[in-house]
Amino acid sequence: MTDSYTIDVIPGDGIGQEVIPAATACLDLVAERHGFALHWRDREWGSDYYRSTGRMLPVDGLEQLSTGDAVFLGAVGDVDIPDDVTLWGLLIPIRREFEQYINLRPNRTLPGVPSPLAGDRQLDVLVVRENVEGEYSEIGGRFRRGRPDEFALQEAVFTRQGIARVTRFAAELAAGRTGRLVSATKSNGIIHTMPFWDEVVRETAADFPGVTVDKVLIDALAARVVSAPESLDVIVASNLFGDILSDLAAAVAGSLGVAPSANLNPEREHPSLFEPVHGSAPDIAGKGWANPVAAIWAGAMMLRHLGRPEAADDLESAFGAVLAGGTRTRDLGGSASTGDFTEAVLVALRG
Ligand code: ATP
Ligand code: MG
Repeated sequence: MTDSYTIDVIPGDGIGQEVIPAATACLDLVAERHGFALHWRDREWGSDYYRSTGRMLPVDGLEQLSTGDAVFLGAVGDVDIPDDVTLWGLLIPIRREFEQYINLRPNRTLPGVPSPLAGDRQLDVLVVRENVEGEYSEIGGRFRRGRPDEFALQEAVFTRQGIARVTRFAAELAAGRTGRLVSATKSNGIIHTMPFWDEVVRETAADFPGVTVDKVLIDALAARVVSAPESLDVIVASNLFGDILSDLAAAVAGSLGVAPSANLNPEREHPSLFEPVHGSAPDIAGKGWANPVAAIWAGAMMLRHLGRPEAADDLESAFGAVLAGGTRTRDLGGSASTGDFTEAVLVALRG
């Protein structure tokens, strides 16, 4: 087993600059305790880089990232720069260039994290979102601009291969958990792409005898995340539906501040990217209030992907214990700063 991993770290914008150093400190310590090292290559890319160069990434940025073992990202987004520049200039090119066709988003209620769920109800859901095709396509346009009959078109593109591979990934995960896979659909209203989605999901999942697939309309499924979360385990969803569902699941679990995500290239031909679900949160940037849990948890997902599950488990246990012990940032109703919380995780890791 290799004892050193090269990680490209892009803190990016806003609270990305606060939560990433917090997470890398925890990752360095857990790595040291497990006998391996993380070699960080700092990449000061993002909105400031854009302001000085007109690009979110250097011209050869993707090439530089291609030689690393993983990418660790904070956030990209800036109130003064449109999303189509920030997101489409950095995150989406990385996802597509490195065929990160899985967006994996675990969400679970954690002891010490207040959830809006009634009583002691729990949620433990893995959203497997298709990450490179579907509704977020470049095909379409605005027509007859400014006229009364102006219209816009946006084409969704679904491929057999794209649906099959995300389904296989989700079915494998479901087989290792409860065997229950829910597929998010809307085939009663979206009559071309969604029946195709249903058909390919059903055919692909048939190869997994221990897995049952339940197709559920996205509107009913959204309600179920809130009203019967314990009935859900692994959810496979298209790009748009997965995006919405995972934010909903994150909110039900407690806070965007604790939701991690992995953009995976399962074949490991290219680096995968790990990031908190939240954005740059300009309203609290620079105040030291940001919750570092989402970034630390994303770091644990990275360790798992790199083949270091014991280190990942230790890191998850450490922040879990700190939360359960009552140390919380403001988004969770506490008063700990980013630094206080991080220090508590480091203490827990030293155990
Ligand atoms: P972006 O445009 O980069 O997506 P945003 O304004 O949409 O940024 P998000 O970061 O997605 O903001 O989060 C929405 C709100 O949730 C923020 O305004 C912030 O108050 C809160 N929030 C998000 N992440 C955190 C965090 N890690 N800690 C504390 N609060 C957070
Ligand atoms: Mg946002």
